[in-house]
Amino acid sequence: MTPGTKEPDRTLPGWTAAYQWASSNAKSIKRNQKVFVASESLQNMDLKTAVRMQQDQFQRASWESFDQYKESRNSVWSLTVEDNRIDCNCPVYMKSNICKHPLAMEIRLSISEPPAQAKTVPLGEKRKRGRPISAPFLLLKKSAWLFN
Ligand SMILES: [Zn+2]
Repeated sequence: MTPGTKEPDRTLPGWTAAYQWASSNAKSIKRNQKVFVASESLQNMDLKTAVRMQQDQFQRASWESFDQYKESRNSVWSLTVEDNRIDCNCPVYMKSNICKHPLAMEIRLSISEPPAQAKTVPLGEKRKRGRPISAPFLLLKKSAWLFN
């Protein structure tokens, strides 16, 4: 994110999605100072294999077609800690500078506690649209976990 850019709002729907993701059995893999998570489109492969394939393809910059590139790019999202914040490379994050993945990581690592209302939606259901609430921005003091 560019310095001086306003911190995006951490909304209740965002926290709800993050809490649901964090409470699910969705796996994450830490590698090369990044954390990889499976995208919704990754179905026929385990995360480990998908990460290995993506890294290999991107390293060699070798794809048989643009479709293959797109499929590989969209199979796994990677999260990076920079300037005390977690960045993601999924389309939602690219568009609005925030998505459920960094929030979910913060929840899993006990860096942040989601608002109580975020836990009131049954797992697997989406929160209906409503007034967003703001949560204080917490510095990721524990970001060192990525670089151990
Ligand atoms: Zn994301």
